[in-house]
Amino acid sequence: MSETLAELVRGLAAGRYSSVELVDASLARIRRHADLNAFITVDEEAARAAARAADQARGAGGTGLLLGVPLAHKDIFCTAGMRTTCASRMLAGFVAPYDATVVARLRAHGAVMVGKTNMDEFAMGSSNETSYFGPVRNPWDPTRVPGGSSGGSAAAVAAGLVPAATGTDTGGSIRQPAAFCGITGLKPSYGRVSRYGMIAFASSLDQAGPMARSAEDCAYVLAAMAGFDDRDSTSSERPVDDYIGGLSGDLAGLRIGVVREHFGAGLDAEIGAATQAALAEFERLGATLVDVSLPNSAASLPCYYVLAPAEASSNLARYDGVRYGYRAAGYRDLEDMYKKTRGEGFGAEVKRRIMIGTYALSSGYYDAYYLKALKLRRLVADDFAAAFAQCDIIAGPTAPTTAFALGAKTDDPVSMYMNDIYTIPVNLAGLPALSMPAGLAGGLPVGLQLVGRYLDEARLLRVAHRYQQATDWHRRRPPLS
Ligand code: GLN
Repeated sequence: MSETLAELVRGLAAGRYSSVELVDASLARIRRHADLNAFITVDEEAARAAARAADQARGAGGTGLLLGVPLAHKDIFCTAGMRTTCASRMLAGFVAPYDATVVARLRAHGAVMVGKTNMDEFAMGSSNETSYFGPVRNPWDPTRVPGGSSGGSAAAVAAGLVPAATGTDTGGSIRQPAAFCGITGLKPSYGRVSRYGMIAFASSLDQAGPMARSAEDCAYVLAAMAGFDDRDSTSSERPVDDYIGGLSGDLAGLRIGVVREHFGAGLDAEIGAATQAALAEFERLGATLVDVSLPNSAASLPCYYVLAPAEASSNLARYDGVRYGYRAAGYRDLEDMYKKTRGEGFGAEVKRRIMIGTYALSSGYYDAYYLKALKLRRLVADDFAAAFAQCDIIAGPTAPTTAFALGAKTDDPVSMYMNDIYTIPVNLAGLPALSMPAGLAGGLPVGLQLVGRYLDEARLLRVAHRYQQATDWHRRRPPLS
C-alpha cells in the first residue's frame, strides 16, 4: 500500500477501490511481512466483515471520516471480541468486555481494524524487546529495533502493512519509534485523547495518539480520536480544533525555539546535522529561529524513572491472578498464588519497574524520591512555559541515535532509558509533540521533534505539513518488497 491515508480516504470516496480491496491488500501484506513480527493478533475474517459493512454503508450514502480505511491498534487498547495482551504473558489470553474510547471512536468514524500491534510489555521499553511475543524488526534493517514501546505500530506503518495505527506515549513511545521507522507520530497534550480502556502504565503521563505516514494523515486520525470523554476524568472539556481544516497556512511570523541543551554530548553527529538542515528549511519557509533553554531537562530522566515506576507499581497491582489474566497453575495458598502468578506473568523489565516504584513509594523513601520527583516535574514544566514565552513551537532531535541493533542495549537499562532524553520532558509537562522524518543517517531514518503549547496540536500539524510539502523525507520507504 503506497498511498497515504489521506489519499486512501479520497480514493474510497471517489470509488476508485472498495474497502474490501484495501483491507485484503493490507492483510496480504501483513502475511507477507510476518517476519517483522509487527502484529500480535490479526483477525482476517472480522476485518473482511467490517470492510464489507463499510462498503455497504458507503453504498447507502455513509460518509464517516475514515470510512473503510484499514487501521491497526496498539495491543494496549481494549477491543471487545479480540484479545488485548499488552504484550504480556499476564494478559496473553485476556479478552476485554468493551472497547476503549479510542477504538470505539475510530470504529464509529468507519475505520476497519485489521489487528493489534506488538509493543513492549505494558509499554515499558524503548526497543520493543520486552514483548512476551518477541521483538519487532525494523523494516529499514531487520537486524535493528523499531523503537518502542509502540514498535509494532511504527513498523506496520513504515512497511506499508496499514496506512495508520494507534500508539501510546508515556515517555516517548509514539515519537521515538516513529523516528526510528521513518514515519510521523503525534503525542497529543495530556487530556486531549481519552485514556478509557487504554491499559494504564503511568496514568499522569500516558496519552494515545496517531502514527502514520504524514502530518496530514495524523490530522485525520487525531480528528477521529480526540475529544472529551466523561469516562476519563482527566480528559479535557475544551473543544477540539479542526485539525484537517487547520493544515493549510504558511510559516510567516512563526518563532521556532531551538533548545541549547539539545545539541550537547550524546547526540549523534549526523542527527545533529539533519536537525540543523531541517531548521534551515523552516527559515526558508518563513519561520524565525529563537535560542531557548530548558535548564532542568537533564533532571527529567531521573524524575521520570521515579514517577513512572511509582504509578506503574500501583496500576499493576491489579494483576493478582484473582480477577482476570494469568494465574499460576500450582500454589499452596493465596500468598503463594500471588507470588507465583506475578513471578511468572510479568517479564524482567516490568518487575524492575514495580520494584523501583514500590521502593520509591515506601514510607521511609516517599519524601526523598517521589515527592522530590514531583517537584522536579514542576521545574521542567516551568522551563517549557518560560521557553514558550519566546517562541511558538520548539524543534529538535527526537532521539539521540538512529535505530540500534537488536540486543545492543538489553543488558544495560540505563543506556536504554537515555534514548528518551528528548521526549520524556514533554510528557512531564503534558505538552503535545510530534516526530517526523527529517533525513537519513547511514541509511536509517532521522526524526525531528516539534513540541507545542498545551492543546496546540493544530499548529504542530500545520507546521509539520508545511515542511512535508516542501521536502520528501516522509515519502522515503524502507527497502522492502
Ligand atoms: N521508553 C520509556 C519507558 O520505557 C517510555 C515508554 C512509553 O512511552 N510508554 O518508560
